[in-house]
Amino acid sequence: MSTTSLTPKLNSGSVQAIPLGAIAPWAIFGLLLAIVGIYFVGAEQGATALFKGMYVHEFVHDARHLLGFPCH
Ligand SMILES: [Zn+2]
Repeated sequence: MSTTSLTPKLNSGSVQAIPLGAIAPWAIFGLLLAIVGIYFVGAEQGATALFKGMYVHEFVHDARHLLGFPCH
């Protein structure tokens, strides 16, 4: 008969905290990527468009509707 435990087993017995200074640059980088992604999904159209044509708009069109941004 096998016994299973739902509690995690730690090898060292302690969990090391990650310093905020080590996480902050990656958090800022991730935030910038998210802002760029939200811009392209939500505002890359018409007067605020960075690229000519409708290619980017059509590429993210389903995401735009999924997130509730106004479209057409
Ligand atoms: Zn649409």
